[in-house]
Amino acid sequence: KSAKWSPKENESRRLPIYQHKSKLIQAVKDSSFLVVTGETGSGKTTQLPQYLREAGFCKDGKIGITQPRRVAAITVAQRVAQEMQCTLGKEVGYQVRFDDCTSQDTVVKYMTDGCLLREVLADPALSQYSVIILDEVHERSLNTDILLGLIKKVFTNPAKATKGRSFPLKVVVMSATLETDKLSAFLSNCPVFAIPGRTFPVTCTFGSAVGPKDLESTGYVKEVVKVALDIHTSEMAGDILVFLTGQSEIEHACDMLFEKAECIDYRYDVTDQSVDGLLILPLYGSMPTDQQRQIFQPPPPGIRKCVVATNIAATSLTIDGIKYIVDSGFVKQLNHNSRVGMDILEVVPISKSEAQQRAGRAGRTSAGKCFRIYTKEFWEKCMPEYTIPEIQRTSLTAVILTLKCLGIHDVIRFPYLDCPEERFILEALKQLYQFDAIDRRGNVTKLGELMVEFPLHPGLTRALLKAASLGCQDLLLPVAAMLSVENIFIRPGHPDKQKEADKKHRALAAKTGSMNDFATLLNVFQSCKSSDRPSAWCKENWIHWRALKSAFSVETQLRDILHRLQQKKDFPVETFDGNKSELFRRCLCTGYFTNVARRSIGKVFCTMDGHGSMVHIHPSSSLFDQEAELNWVIFHDVLATSRVYIRTVCPIRYEWVKDLLPKLHEVDAYELSSVARE
Ligand code: ADP
Ligand code: MG
Repeated sequence: KSAKWSPKENESRRLPIYQHKSKLIQAVKDSSFLVVTGETGSGKTTQLPQYLREAGFCKDGKIGITQPRRVAAITVAQRVAQEMQCTLGKEVGYQVRFDDCTSQDTVVKYMTDGCLLREVLADPALSQYSVIILDEVHERSLNTDILLGLIKKVFTNPAKATKGRSFPLKVVVMSATLETDKLSAFLSNCPVFAIPGRTFPVTCTFGSAVGPKDLESTGYVKEVVKVALDIHTSEMAGDILVFLTGQSEIEHACDMLFEKAECIDYRYDVTDQSVDGLLILPLYGSMPTDQQRQIFQPPPPGIRKCVVATNIAATSLTIDGIKYIVDSGFVKQLNHNSRVGMDILEVVPISKSEAQQRAGRAGRTSAGKCFRIYTKEFWEKCMPEYTIPEIQRTSLTAVILTLKCLGIHDVIRFPYLDCPEERFILEALKQLYQFDAIDRRGNVTKLGELMVEFPLHPGLTRALLKAASLGCQDLLLPVAAMLSVENIFIRPGHPDKQKEADKKHRALAAKTGSMNDFATLLNVFQSCKSSDRPSAWCKENWIHWRALKSAFSVETQLRDILHRLQQKKDFPVETFDGNKSELFRRCLCTGYFTNVARRSIGKVFCTMDGHGSMVHIHPSSSLFDQEAELNWVIFHDVLATSRVYIRTVCPIRYEWVKDLLPKLHEVDAYELSSVARE
């Protein structure tokens, strides 16, 4: 009985959830559905799956735990593997888009909500699982919301729940906030298990740097750096957590901190250094996992840790030892902008509830302080009460196609926890029709069935399939892969280095012989791949080698999916005569004719989707400053700061989209949904 506890095990016994272990296991046994709530850091994500495994829930099937964020899925799986003293990918594994680290032995599987949604497509009964845990439900990510609806539809219906299964499925829904009545009501009034928290008071102060007039300014980066340094020099021991918006802002802030303080830079090995300083650690979604691990380690003696993070540190990952919060008041969010008619990545004020969540991170182990850099007036006038769920603010195109392929025809009356606006659903249907994924009656076409297999934006998939039907997938596969990984081009920030990087990047673009950002991506991919020393090639050209490695792997996976689909006898085949550059751009047009813009005056372009929005070419494009030579262009995405920018741009001829553009106005969206309403 006196088996030695590993230190890890001891540690986990101190978590609030531990005292409720047997009651929790019993609660899962007693009911098909259970809502579990508890403060961030109470041990829900890392412990509950282990408890259930110990209690024998893995006998018949796996325990699957979903996370809205990819980094969280990976990091938590690593942690749990460590606690269970097993190799990651064996008993405990993870799966995220384009990265599967599981095996036949995996019984505890962390995954993104998007991955589980894809699994539902292949196996709606989820027959491999004995328990599904939907985690971080309070985040209200689009995919988690859809999974909730699907689970309600199938598993709260006794007749459907057992179909394709030999034993019943247990569903646990976990949330860090107390909005649990709504969740319980949604899932047949299931029981709610609240893990009592223990938190310490956090004193919040408002600043003077950001007011209602500063909505468009980026001064918040400088300000959080200043405040963090003030804390470092004037406050007692305790680590700092800074909330910023995204990778480039975070890296910029880390650079400034490093220059201004006597700091330890995260890029160097910290183990031998013991200056009285600040250990600066960035934390964002796409960062390398070996760097992430450092976030959780206590700093060396006499050193203060300063983590500069995106919202991921608000609930998805818990960092111990944080006593001070610096809150920028902003978040980078994908929003559907109905004025522009597109999803736009933009920096917006956080909600008041989000601000409270951020502040709470300082009060986990003792009393803490939260420094808000914005004014009380900003709080009152600019910050909404709650964050709007993603399903009510982003494009639903991919999700609606998934639902249709699951045989859910009536996408308007699907059981949504919070209904998206009807016009968002209609817009998604319209876009699916434009991409030939559904027909006029709202039924999935053969092409739609092929499209749903790709974990890509439907437009990109459409272009890829067009290329495949013409036998030139080798042009589009690398592009799709490059667009699926983040941050290919290094932007050093430092003015001299930036110039050097810009020069290299322009040279890479020039080598393609055509001004076309998609061709540049293809060129970077191919040049690096064919190089003898690809990592050195990347270094020399200011390209992120890690991003390219991912792109190589993504390309292989997309190629495999395509290859599998091409075996089907009715895979479309077409021919084309014309030159390669035209072929390439025409394929792109089939997927991007919804993103066409025409130059109006000067550097201003006007979109052709009926919204007629005014847009500019982003400075990162090789076409920036070449506007005078352009007329018609297509673009991959849109970024809004002080202006609306289009990124990854390609010049086209009007003739190539002439026949496609009428499709944008051909059907009335209601027509597509009329079937759905019958
Ligand atoms: P919850 O899901 O309730 O927010 P978690 O299970 O994520 O809680 O976290 C429980 C504890 O485990 C926290 O104290 C956290 O700091 C610790 N923890 C989680 N992941 C790691 C990790 N990768 N490294 C070290 N500690 C971790
Ligand atoms: Mg959690």
